[in-house]
Amino acid sequence: MADLQEAKIVGTPALDGRYISEMDMWPLECQEFNRLYQFYDNLREGRFTTTKCKKCGHIAFPPGVICPRCWSEELEWVDLTQRAKVVTFTETQAGAPLGFPPPLILAWLNFGKDSPIKHLLVRIINCAEGELKEGDEVKLVVFEVPAHPIEVKRETKVCNRVYYAFEPVKSASM
Ligand SMILES: [Zn+2]
Repeated sequence: MADLQEAKIVGTPALDGRYISEMDMWPLECQEFNRLYQFYDNLREGRFTTTKCKKCGHIAFPPGVICPRCWSEELEWVDLTQRAKVVTFTETQAGAPLGFPPPLILAWLNFGKDSPIKHLLVRIINCAEGELKEGDEVKLVVFEVPAHPIEVKRETKVCNRVYYAFEPVKSASM
């Protein structure tokens, strides 16, 4: 009873940035659990990639294990543009979901006509409230997310994890 009264958010034991594993919002990125582990390994090397079909040439995002156009499973990894311009965005200044410190900014990006992927909806981080403007240039940023223990052949292995977002490109004077 005392614990319930002390908890500010009933039913969500979110203390010190931790939360129960059922609420974990990040994918398991290990090779043992995820056929797209290469995407995350590439992120760790600073590469923003996706899958390209070797048969019909279609490039899809997010990456997959099968081509959504011709059903081929013969895919290869290709690099994507890491800079884009903000077309439009939303900024949640209060009441963002657990795990997302405000402001939670979601932006529709334009990667330019030379990019195989023209548009993506992404999260913008490292950006103060009210700072982002339409037309701003943003770039890829890779960040660590909480590691997750997994069971592999009766051994416990720690699955280190990363994820990506975009951040404003600051001018050199700032
Ligand atoms: Zn295809």
